[in-house]
Amino acid sequence: MARYTTLRLGGAARRLETATSAEQIVQKVQEAQGRDEPVLVLAGGSNVVIGDQGFPGTVVLVRSRGFRVVAEDADTVTVRVEAGEPWDDLVAATVANGWSGLECLSGIPGSAGATPIQNVGAYGQEVAETITGVQVYDRTAGSVGRIAAADCGFAYRGSIFKYSDRWVVLSVDFRLTRSPHSTPVRYAELARALDVEVGGRVPLADARATVLRLRAGKGMVLDAADPDTWSVGSFFTNPVLEREAYELLRERAADLGEPPSWPGAGDVVKVSAAWLIDKAGFAKGHPGPEGVAISTKHTLALTNHSGTATAAALVALAREIRDGVHDRFGVTLHPEPVLINCVI
Ligand SMILES: Cc1cc2nc3c(=O)[nH]c(=O)nc-3n(C[C@H](O)[C@H](O)[C@H](O)COP(=O)(O)OP(=O)(O)OC[C@H]3O[C@@H](n4cnc5c(N)ncnc54)[C@H](O)[C@@H]3O)c2cc1C
Repeated sequence: MARYTTLRLGGAARRLETATSAEQIVQKVQEAQGRDEPVLVLAGGSNVVIGDQGFPGTVVLVRSRGFRVVAEDADTVTVRVEAGEPWDDLVAATVANGWSGLECLSGIPGSAGATPIQNVGAYGQEVAETITGVQVYDRTAGSVGRIAAADCGFAYRGSIFKYSDRWVVLSVDFRLTRSPHSTPVRYAELARALDVEVGGRVPLADARATVLRLRAGKGMVLDAADPDTWSVGSFFTNPVLEREAYELLRERAADLGEPPSWPGAGDVVKVSAAWLIDKAGFAKGHPGPEGVAISTKHTLALTNHSGTATAAALVALAREIRDGVHDRFGVTLHPEPVLINCVI
């Protein structure tokens, strides 16, 4: 599977099927179920770590394309996007059409259909803000239906879809605002780069171009020539700590200054995984076995830098970092990608 994942890792699948429409996705999944085989629905392969043993069943590659307007009024358009549509092609089209709401999510690899899975987010936007519903094939019920956004369980890098193979996403509805301007810029680094106050709005094309530039500088835009991008993006989520755990962290980090943090919903605090990793002694470029390494541009990205490593080597590096951070700060990091046939 290495050639189907951005980490360039993963052993063989027993069977590989390509589906180019929603109907074919359902059909291929049903056929595999009929053979009593496990099924892995895979699109861009940019958020999975597939183990060296591969996958003992059918991998259905989602390659459906396109989007269309399904509702509109004076202020908004609702677009229905086929699951396999490359995400950044969609974002580019919305910016070109003057539809505001996805511009800060420019440059994220993968498919539109995978964005609800972990409520994809970056630079102050997340898809939960614009998704109105998701068309799914429910493998348990054996039927096609629609799940409204309120029932998707969207959370920080999560939803009811993550770690569940019950639902196969066939298409996603996004409601976008007709506007030549971005949504209010929430992310301080982006606001600085755009030379606006946090909360200001900028032309859509400026938001997109600046996000792409910032992301490229961090190795967060796929580039076949740049091994720093042979990753799954951020490997660990930012830990969300109860107040007590946060105060313990502050004590243990007292010699390092205040850990960067953001208030969460309720009495929880989200802390920077990149800061924890760096301060635990894992700098950019930190090497693991077989040429895996932390990206030289971003502390959170673990890369198959040599292009020839095994998933076991990547997992070993991830473990070393997770354990090192735990030993130093008492905080457990959790992986952001979906691990298939491997464990950390
Ligand atoms: C360089 C780089 C930068 C990144 N930056 C970001 C970022 O800024 N923010 C962010 O949130 N993510 C980021 N990611 C992670 C990743 O791009 C996103 O999570 C993306 O949405 C994954 O899409 P995909 O099509 O590649 O999914 P895959 O990797 O193919 O699949 C991921 C998971 O979703 C499931 N899945 C995929 N399609 C479907 C479907 N149609 N129905 C049901 N299940 C499905 C798979 O089974 C798997 O469990 C980055 C990755 C890379 C490599």
